[in-house]
Amino acid sequence: MRWLKPLAIGALCLTVAACTTSPTGRQRLTLVSDAQLDQMGAQAFEQYQQERPMVGGATQRYVQCVADALVRALPPEQRQSQNWQIRVFKAEDANAFALPGGYMGVHTGLLEVARNQDQLAAVIGHEITHVLARHANERVSTQTATQLGLSVLSSAAGLEGAGGEQIMGALGMGAQYGILMPFSRSHESEADELGLYLMAEAGFDPRASLALWDNMSAQGGAQPPAWLSSHPSHGQRSQALQARMGDALSRYERARQAGRTPSCSRS
Ligand SMILES: [Zn+2]
Repeated sequence: MRWLKPLAIGALCLTVAACTTSPTGRQRLTLVSDAQLDQMGAQAFEQYQQERPMVGGATQRYVQCVADALVRALPPEQRQSQNWQIRVFKAEDANAFALPGGYMGVHTGLLEVARNQDQLAAVIGHEITHVLARHANERVSTQTATQLGLSVLSSAAGLEGAGGEQIMGALGMGAQYGILMPFSRSHESEADELGLYLMAEAGFDPRASLALWDNMSAQGGAQPPAWLSSHPSHGQRSQALQARMGDALSRYERARQAGRTPSCSRS
C-alpha cells in the first residue's frame, strides 16, 4: 500500500499544523520536536561508540579535517545549530551515517571507496545535509504516522503515548533495522543536491562526487551496501549531479578564490 503514504501525508498537511517545507520545497510532516530527536541522536551515537571499535590517529584527523572544512562553509546559524561530531569506526562495509544533533560516523571501508579528500567530502557533505534538512525528523514523523494511523495523529498527544521504542526504530536505530537504515529516495536526492553545493562552497572539487558514485557502484556489484539500496539508481544520481555541476563549479571557483583550499591527507 505504498501509494497510501504520500496520500496520507498530503491530507495531514492540510489539517495538521505540524507541516513544514523541506529545503528544496517539499511539503512534509514533522511531529517530533527537534530537541527530542537531538537527544536521541546523542544517545544512539554514544551507544554506537561503545559497541564498535573506533580508529584514531591520522585516520581520525583526516576525516575530521574534511568535516571541519565542510562545517566551516555553512552559514553561521546552521553551523551553530548542531553539535557537530564525527568518528571513524573499524568496519569493512563502505558506510557513513548521520544522526540528529550532528553526530556522524564513517566506516573504514568507506575510505577505500572515497579515495581522496574531495570524494570523502562528497559523502560527508551529503551526511551533513541529511542532518540540516532534518530528514530524520521527517522519517520518524512519517513512519509514526503510518504506524499509528490518522485518527491518533490528529492530536500531538497521541504521539507521546507511542513510546520511545517505536520512534527509535523509525530513526533507524532499532535493533531489527540496525543503525544504518537508509533514508528515502527523496531524502537522498535532496542530500545529493545540497551536499554537492556544500562541498563546492567548502572548496572541494564537486566533480569528485561523480567519481565517488562510480567507485561505489563498481564496488557494490551485485550486493550494494544496505544504505545504498534505497538511493537513486546510479544513472539517475549521476544525471542529477551533472545537471547541477555548472552551478557547483562556479561556487567552487568562488570558494577557491576566497581562500577556501582544504588540504586533508590520510597519512
Ligand atoms: Zn543519504
